[in-house]
Amino acid sequence: MTKNSRKIVIIGGGFGGLFTALDLNGAGEVTLINDEDHFLFRPMLYEYLSGEVEAWHIAPDCRELLDDQAKFIRGRVTSIDLSSKTVKLADREEPIPYNALVISPGATTNYAGVEGAEQYSLPFRTLNDAQLLRRRMTETLDLVQPDAAPQDTRAALTFAVVGGGASGVELTTKMADLLRDAVKRRALQGEPRVVIIEMADRLVPGMGTALREFVEAALTEHRVEVYTGTRVVRVSESGITLEHNHTQTELQTAGVVWVAGVRPSPLIEGLEVERDHRGLILVEPTLQVRGHEDVFALGDAALYTDVTPTLAGTAQLALQESHLCARNVRGFFEGSELKTRRFVELGEALSLGTEHAAVLTAGKVIGGPLARQARFAMYTARLPTWHHRLRVGASWFFEGTQPRPLQPLGF
Ligand SMILES: Cc1cc2nc3c(=O)[nH]c(=O)nc-3n(C[C@H](O)[C@H](O)[C@H](O)COP(=O)(O)OP(=O)(O)OC[C@H]3O[C@@H](n4cnc5c(N)ncnc54)[C@H](O)[C@@H]3O)c2cc1C
Repeated sequence: MTKNSRKIVIIGGGFGGLFTALDLNGAGEVTLINDEDHFLFRPMLYEYLSGEVEAWHIAPDCRELLDDQAKFIRGRVTSIDLSSKTVKLADREEPIPYNALVISPGATTNYAGVEGAEQYSLPFRTLNDAQLLRRRMTETLDLVQPDAAPQDTRAALTFAVVGGGASGVELTTKMADLLRDAVKRRALQGEPRVVIIEMADRLVPGMGTALREFVEAALTEHRVEVYTGTRVVRVSESGITLEHNHTQTELQTAGVVWVAGVRPSPLIEGLEVERDHRGLILVEPTLQVRGHEDVFALGDAALYTDVTPTLAGTAQLALQESHLCARNVRGFFEGSELKTRRFVELGEALSLGTEHAAVLTAGKVIGGPLARQARFAMYTARLPTWHHRLRVGASWFFEGTQPRPLQPLGF
């Protein structure tokens, strides 16, 4: 098969899919299919919520990134036919044929069957989710009367975040800063109330002690209320029901954000390949889907068994896998031996409010404003393409990264 006749189809324009497409430049006729027109650098979605970064910084257009290196189709893949080697898209009659397929549609929010959770809580995975949450906070603030008593302000401005992993911590500290700043600017009396709820007996399980100390200090400093060992039983339009030690309590809330877990993209639910108990596609160390040498899977939709649990389900892993995937797709066509590699921890970085962060690198943790700068620098380096990195780096350096206050709507 000549290079030009090799049809390589990639599903998902995230960390796994987009970076594979970029690496595959020149390997054949590469087509990237994504249901959004942009890539999303999810680790900075908190900064988008607070206005520290703009959409174009973290969600560049896929077509611009790919330039003429690959064809881009904006569309949702509805099914994959492994026997006819085609994929089907919603709103498109003709299936798309492939000679090699890369599956990287990522994950989606897992509400774990909790009553009302999907209906009434806000997810936090996309630009739109962040916009909706920002809007909810602003609208709630707009309803607080200027002369409200402190306890009424606190009751009106109660937000709950379900899930005490890194996402929950980053989100609550960011929300607490934004809301407190808005309360001050509007000269309201009292304080907002931000609550984080975790089923396990401690927050950020899997995180080392040194980083956890920063996290705990930040939550205390931001006056985020921590409920561990607490299960969410129900979410309703006006609040949340919690269960701790077999006792249930009701909490009235202005908003509930659900970051308590993920499940693989529904696209792979019906796919007849080997999967684990969570539905993740089992892949060989070469990233080939078991029993299908022309199909590769990576990122949040795949289970690569030989990685440390803390790396699983991260952008760091998907990014590293993308380089291996591209290399092996080339190897597959060239008939050369496919490779595997050891994936490593690239360091951890957590944003802790709008002014601070904590960064773990080379076994050491740094915190505070310096860590915030380090996090921005670290993430600039991981954005796709040199061109985009330079533009964003220049924008952050010259124009700054200050949060945008929650102004009254219509301001
Ligand atoms: C708020 C948040 C913060 C995070 N922070 C960090 C962090 O700090 N560090 C870290 O390492 N990881 C972080 N993660 C996890 C990280 O974002 C994921 O592990 C990573 O994005 C996985 O890459 P992926 O390519 O598998 O999926 P994604 O990056 O999610 O990309 C999948 C793409 O496929 C598209 N897609 C899905 N289904 C279809 C379909 N049927 N048809 C077409 N397109 C489809 C999706 O819209 C998406 O664009 C964070 C995640 C979230 C939600």
